[in-house]
Amino acid sequence: MASLYKMPLSSLSGIGPKRVEQFNKLGVNSVGELITFYPRAYEDWSNVTKIADISQSGVYCVKAILAAPISDRRVSGGMIISKGAVYDDTGSLQLIFFNNRYISSMLTYGIEYFFYGKIEFNDYGVQMTSPTFSQIGEAGIHPIYRQTAGLNGKTIANAVRQSLKLLPPVVNDPIPEQVRKAFNLWGLREALNGIHFPKNSEELENSRKRLVTEELVVLNLGMKNLRNHSRGVSSVKIENDYSEEFEDHLPFTLTNAQKRAIADCVDDIKEKSAPMNRLVQGDVGSGKTAVAASVCYTVIKNGFQAAFMAPTEILARQHFETFKKLLQDTGIKVELLTGALKESEKKRVRAELQSGEIDLIIGTHALITDKTEFNNLGVAVTDEQHRFGVAQRAKLLSKGKNPHLLVMSATPIPRTLGLIIFGDLDISIIDELPPSRKPVKTVLFNTSQRQRVFGFIKKEIAAGRQAYIVCPLVEEGELDDVVSAEEYAAELMLKQFSDIPVGVVHGQMKSDEKEAVMSKFASGELKLLVATTVIEVGVDVPNASVMVIENAERFGLSQLHQLRGRVGRGSTQSYCVLISDHHNEQTKQRLEVMCSTNDGFKIADEDLRMRGPGDFFGSRQHGLPQLAIADFADTKSLELSQKIVDYILFTYKDLRCDELKLLNAEINRLFDRGGKNTLN
Ligand code: ADP
Ligand code: MG
Repeated sequence: MASLYKMPLSSLSGIGPKRVEQFNKLGVNSVGELITFYPRAYEDWSNVTKIADISQSGVYCVKAILAAPISDRRVSGGMIISKGAVYDDTGSLQLIFFNNRYISSMLTYGIEYFFYGKIEFNDYGVQMTSPTFSQIGEAGIHPIYRQTAGLNGKTIANAVRQSLKLLPPVVNDPIPEQVRKAFNLWGLREALNGIHFPKNSEELENSRKRLVTEELVVLNLGMKNLRNHSRGVSSVKIENDYSEEFEDHLPFTLTNAQKRAIADCVDDIKEKSAPMNRLVQGDVGSGKTAVAASVCYTVIKNGFQAAFMAPTEILARQHFETFKKLLQDTGIKVELLTGALKESEKKRVRAELQSGEIDLIIGTHALITDKTEFNNLGVAVTDEQHRFGVAQRAKLLSKGKNPHLLVMSATPIPRTLGLIIFGDLDISIIDELPPSRKPVKTVLFNTSQRQRVFGFIKKEIAAGRQAYIVCPLVEEGELDDVVSAEEYAAELMLKQFSDIPVGVVHGQMKSDEKEAVMSKFASGELKLLVATTVIEVGVDVPNASVMVIENAERFGLSQLHQLRGRVGRGSTQSYCVLISDHHNEQTKQRLEVMCSTNDGFKIADEDLRMRGPGDFFGSRQHGLPQLAIADFADTKSLELSQKIVDYILFTYKDLRCDELKLLNAEINRLFDRGGKNTLN
């Protein structure tokens, strides 16, 4: 069968060079890619609602008459706002359109239309924003495609319709029939037709289920391959356990949970042939660093090198200071390697690393550049694992001969997603905080209560504590109600806190400047630190007892939880104050979750449920390819795909067998092309 992926778009009727160019802009380059250009949403026009029956905001289809000609108004900045009113036999509502100069000529006064769009209730009453409309009722479910200038939804839909007709009567299906039968999955051909032009919601659901499942199965199997390739069979041999000796160097007693995690690791690395592959997961402040340090200590005492990779410069330096202090009388040589070091310094460190003089290297991504070579790397540790991609992890491992791997994460990754990212990774959970920790008290305030908050900070500082104030990173041209860290700090220093040493850190500062401020805060010289999210991950200043977060609504819950984790690290009662004026119901609900629990797992679940995985991971790399239709927040589908993968592995044993040839091709395609789904 000739691959539809090789068939040019120009072979469709009505698609000339100009259209081809427009489709290319959408990332669609062939007939096959057009077929897998799935709708981003659907409109259900079959369900018309009477205006009087609309009692809450949402997306609706109404059938109504335009009461008067649409009026256009040009507002400052050149934007055109078009307004109109429509009515049916039960009531009326406002229409509003932005920047569409043709609207007034497209809608005729006195004529009845179907309007489909989002309805909200505001001071002007009921308002429908930028609806799509049609004079004849278009019953059924309509696909909505991502569009680009000059290429509208109708044109795309027509081209898709033509493409679907080119599918052969029997499409070779990457998911073998036996698997489809076992899990009640539609065939590929039916699913492709149904995802674009479903006759009803049931058909849409079945089509979606099939395509989502396939994508997740492909992702799942692909991740498995990747992991297997990156790990060898026999690893560095660790003969003796030095973890008890290490405890003598600690200024505190390990919690039982920490001891268990260390014992798990020692068990993994001691005289087993396969390398350790372990995730230590523990809420912020649970003491993961000490666990990692202990494992590094044992590995080093057995004559190997250890590498510890952190996601930010600040964090790497902080770990460096901690480890240096811990290991000062042990004869272990610890060094730092980050991008910010002077070239000559980097060169020296790299040379000593290669010769084996350095036992423990702490660093950032600088550790995985080609220039960095080890003498005999025994264990690689990555801190705050979710900030690194799978490939980066593999790169660090490739610096040794099958070294052991320890990854640490405070971000509780939902189990189902964790299975895909980490696969067979063993997990130790630190489910106990160091003793005498008091849960952080969290409150939600609005900006008019700011002075009270400042007063509180002063009191805490007078009592010998320290405080953080976090404001969101400001991008150029952003709303002016979001204050920038610098301006905000300047104001604080001049006014409320003129008698208190205040420091500022933000993203635009050079890293040595940041470092200087951070270490002054850590030493207690600075009492108040105004910061953007650069302090988010891992920073450890146990004397800090107040965390104030301005514009709290702009952060994800998991991020807020990370930030809050910067306080409550000592034995004094700590506080987290969320400041936000954006009290719409959903925002308020979100922020109230923070006030009601300190449990990172609960918060991550809520975050995922409310905002979806995009925000959960932020724009950060999580090492997974981009998906065409599936969604990382869709726990049910993730679970189903996991079951199918198990079934496939059990049934076919060898992934390279004939029945899975097409599925393998899909795997290669997903990982090669960054997420494009495809046909055979
Ligand atoms: P995280 O798990 O967030 O990385 P850290 O390793 O930074 O946590 O530890 C948080 C703080 O708790 C640090 O100041 C550390 O010294 C302290 N700590 C860790 N373990 C214990 C313990 N068993 N007893 C007392 N304090 C501890
Ligand atoms: Mg940490």
